[in-house]
Amino acid sequence: MTETSRIGLIGLGTMGANLALNIAEAGHRIAVFNRTAEKTRAFHAGAGDLAPRIVPTETLEAFTAALEVPRTILLMVPAGSAVDDQIAALAPYLSPGDILIDGGNSDWQDSRDRAAALAAKGLLFLGLGVSGGAEGARHGPSLMAGGAREAWQGAEPVLASIAARFDGVPCAALFGEGGAGHYVKTVHNGIEYADMQMIAEVYGLMRDGQGRDAAGIAEVFAHWNKGPLESYLVEIAAEVAATADPGTGRPLLDVIADRAGQKGTGRWTVIDAQRRAAPLPAVEAAVTARVLSGEAALRAEGQKLFAGEGRLGPLEDDALASALLAGKVLAYSQGFTLLERARQEEGWSMPLDDVARTWRAGCIIRWRMLDDMAGALAQAKPGKPLAFAPAFAELLSEHVPALRKVVSTATLAGLPVPALSAALQHFDQLRQARGTANMIQGLRDRFGRHGFERLDRPGESGFHGPWADGED
Ligand code: NAP
Repeated sequence: MTETSRIGLIGLGTMGANLALNIAEAGHRIAVFNRTAEKTRAFHAGAGDLAPRIVPTETLEAFTAALEVPRTILLMVPAGSAVDDQIAALAPYLSPGDILIDGGNSDWQDSRDRAAALAAKGLLFLGLGVSGGAEGARHGPSLMAGGAREAWQGAEPVLASIAARFDGVPCAALFGEGGAGHYVKTVHNGIEYADMQMIAEVYGLMRDGQGRDAAGIAEVFAHWNKGPLESYLVEIAAEVAATADPGTGRPLLDVIADRAGQKGTGRWTVIDAQRRAAPLPAVEAAVTARVLSGEAALRAEGQKLFAGEGRLGPLEDDALASALLAGKVLAYSQGFTLLERARQEEGWSMPLDDVARTWRAGCIIRWRMLDDMAGALAQAKPGKPLAFAPAFAELLSEHVPALRKVVSTATLAGLPVPALSAALQHFDQLRQARGTANMIQGLRDRFGRHGFERLDRPGESGFHGPWADGED
């Protein structure tokens, strides 16, 4: 009898092909299938030493027959209808107890619904957030799973064996039922938006405010990557800034158009945060900045119309580094607060320190600070922002003055720093015991008799000001 495969993978695109090689390299026999059979043949032909562990198949019948039962099948096709179509095509060949894993960037609500629909048929489902891009897929991604524990137990041996490791611990975990894994991946991407936007803002201050060239900026990022800012994104910021365009010899950054793409996960995060009334201003600013990056003609017209705002005052590199550090901590803190809100509302078993641990290696937002964040979150009281944990409160007390200086200096010079300033504004609101919403309540009561609470009558509500009837 032919040897069966431990796992099957469908979709040999960038991510699927690299994950399949990673799985084979980890010692598992894997069957593969791709909609376009030619790609399957080319993939197998190019798999080198790993080819003997890879079983290429050209029909779903042959693919499912090649798998150990219960079957474990990883889908790496585009999010949306492709996932539903592929599941529907597979269904006739599956048996109760088989495990389907969707490793694409699916909407967490789709994963929740798919898990429920498949459970009704006796099939197990995992929605798996995969981060780390092509390189991570090949050599160790960060894996964020959601679904039934039984599904996780069936798939974990393979998933943990291919995941990135931090201090020997695999960056792969189950975060709750249904859509929990894709939810964590979505928030990861939201934080990624804020992190990249803050890096771009600091780059902009050096370029436009200080007149530094890309090579000089690359050196600054490379230097920062040796300290508390050491992270994948700062590391590759240095690499991108240091790279020359092969065609023109000019710095690559100087020939790249200032229009950033987006596939939607940042926006999903912000919409979900608004639905849950969880403040996420740094990510909101980053998503808005990407939208505005697409309005090149409008920005050019605006520059002509409102030119000459001022010059950037002196800013030391250390102040820029401190501002970036404080901004990043505040953005991550906002992301964890959103996760905590979702954890409570959805009933997910999602310890936030486990999330931070899973992000320590393999994923795009990996940052040495995430290990400290895991430690702080393990001790934190539920509902308290990460920014209030003693170690991070101390860090912020030390670095927020620089963030304040950078944001105000940039603002006076008319240079935009939307994510850094959104993080700072949120921080300042969090440290204002007596806020200004009393004025809002006064206005609401004046025009609509909405009522307010009084400081001198705690526990009671529905007070009104001494005005005549309100207006709509
Ligand atoms: P990709 O390179 O475009 O490959 C897509 C694969 O899906 C191809 O093998 C394609 O087959 C197959 N496919 C497309 N439509 C299909 C359909 N309707 N039915 C069946 N198969 C279909 O995509 P990718 O970058 O590998 O991404 C795969 C998933 O991973 C996406 O959800 C993506 O968002 C997610 N992801 C990507 C990254 C990244 O850095 N690229 C990182 C994390 C997660 P054909 O060869 O027949 O076209």
